[in-house]
Amino acid sequence: MSRFNKKRFTVITALILTVLTAVFCIGAINGQDVSSTQADNNIKVVIDAGHGGVDSGAIGNKLKIKESDINLKITKKLEKYLLSGGFIVSLTRSSSAGLYGVATKNRKRKDMEKRKEIINKIKPDMVISIHLNKYTSSNRHGGQVFYKNSDKLGKSLACSIQSNFNALSGKGYTALTGDYYILNCTDIPSVICECGFLSNEEEERLLATDEYQDKIAYSIFKGIIAYLYEESFRYL
Ligand SMILES: [Zn+2]
Repeated sequence: MSRFNKKRFTVITALILTVLTAVFCIGAINGQDVSSTQADNNIKVVIDAGHGGVDSGAIGNKLKIKESDINLKITKKLEKYLLSGGFIVSLTRSSSAGLYGVATKNRKRKDMEKRKEIINKIKPDMVISIHLNKYTSSNRHGGQVFYKNSDKLGKSLACSIQSNFNALSGKGYTALTGDYYILNCTDIPSVICECGFLSNEEEERLLATDEYQDKIAYSIFKGIIAYLYEESFRYL
């Protein structure tokens, strides 16, 4: 078995254990330290909570919730799921502060460059960027996932998460290509998860709750597991 296939075989074994562990952790994960329930599977994930600091991102139409706050909450819930499954997890931001340092007029560029720097330093197996959507029509709802056009693994990861988002929202969206900095800044499989629409009153109300944030995080987690499982077999 080549070194590459050996790593894949190790990943499959780890994933089977990961899924079993995750099943037992469901519903009991909030507020608990589950980071030591599973040995590391050596798969590194960077979770990128969009916006932060003075950049709140989108604002909800009704409750006026800030995208940056909800992004971080979903990020931390996803982090718990991944840690429970033995993943090695890093966050580009773990507080409400932005990554731009002093808030100058170039802060958006500095913020994005810092995210790129963190990703390049860690060299993860995948990047999951967490955002919320806003649209002119208030009818639109449900999670939407984006990937870079030339990124085959990113597409596979995006489709896998999208199908879990659709199961949650009842929508039939397909994962879309997007020309975004966080997708373009490295060649690492990367996706942007737009976890719902703040322009939809009902979805804003859901996104503000701990329970729904957890459902979103678990949907992304399941998508990651399904992606790794599929790609592992593809290379064996
Ligand atoms: Zn955003």
